[in-house]
Amino acid sequence: KLHNTILELKGNIRVFCRVRPLMVEEDEGNESPSVQFPSSTDLEGRAIELVQPSGGPKHCFQFDKVFGPDVKQAGVFEEISQLVQSALDGYKVCIFAYGQTGSGKTHTMIGNPEIPDEGGVIPRSLEQVFESSQALIAQGWKFCMQASMLEIYNETIRDLLAKGPVNGDVKQMYVVKHDPSGNTSVSDLTLVEVATWKEVSNLLHRASQSRSTSKTLMNEQSSRSHCVFTLRISGVNEGTEQAVHGVLNLIDLAGSERLSRSGATGDRLKETQAINKSLASLGDVIMAIANKDPHVPFRNSKLTYLLQPCLGGDSKTLMFVNISPDMKSLNESLCSLRFAAKVN
Ligand code: ADP
Ligand code: MG
Repeated sequence: KLHNTILELKGNIRVFCRVRPLMVEEDEGNESPSVQFPSSTDLEGRAIELVQPSGGPKHCFQFDKVFGPDVKQAGVFEEISQLVQSALDGYKVCIFAYGQTGSGKTHTMIGNPEIPDEGGVIPRSLEQVFESSQALIAQGWKFCMQASMLEIYNETIRDLLAKGPVNGDVKQMYVVKHDPSGNTSVSDLTLVEVATWKEVSNLLHRASQSRSTSKTLMNEQSSRSHCVFTLRISGVNEGTEQAVHGVLNLIDLAGSERLSRSGATGDRLKETQAINKSLASLGDVIMAIANKDPHVPFRNSKLTYLLQPCLGGDSKTLMFVNISPDMKSLNESLCSLRFAAKVN
């Protein structure tokens, strides 16, 4: 009963915490891990503790799920496969990865799709959606699935699937539009119809090339931008006259680390401010939705404005907060967990 009330209060917003393993070099440096997992039965798999090097008081956080370093990609996906499935039932779904650079966001969202068992949320979700749609096609359904991939850097949108000079230095203005039926479109954004994982895999390749070959956006800077993968699912069943329109947004957020302390100036400072602002406004939006505030400040950042139709209402949101377990990351981990606890 109590459980139900809590779920009702929180609406369709979930927060999962994932802690990556210590890297070999962190381990060899005899770095002591900064995280612990309480093992009491009522907290197991739902709580994480940050320990102070000085042995001071621990910070304890609870989430809908906590995945320790031993949980593999398949184990994580098991917990989200129903959520992904709901996009095929016509829901609008957003799955975010939040955390400092190096904490495992891209591993969680993409992983290594070429290696069996190492694929992350995007490859697993698409494989599941395509497989499930096959069963529905056999029942008379027809589907149109369109993928797009964009990057938001310094509050400007870049189309990662565009062909031609757009990928280079030519600046193109992409404008986000909402139509009265509640759909968003981004002007001139490339939409590619996909029906198999292979096709999506080619798109991911194209996107990663576009990210790394751009002169204005070096590889290192890709951690300074949000990457939004979107699958729009339209299905009709002419026999039963049913129709569904679902959307699956899978978002690898910019690194949440606070660079301002390191004395960034000029472009770097502007970039940092843009990231901080857009991550903070994402937090504000999710909190406002969870609190059922009458005003949700979607317009404060490109990311939230773009995703507005897919946040709130009966849409479903999941935030992964990714954590690096090494002691050096303690402060950033604390910031990430506090952010996630706020939106949880
Ligand atoms: P981010 O995208 O947050 O900057 P990455 O996903 O690139 O971080 O992860 C940093 C490094 O840690 C990569 O080499 C990645 O393969 C590795 N890594 C992250 N999470 C895991 C995990 N759960 N298991 C194994 N290796 C991981
Ligand atoms: Mg990354």
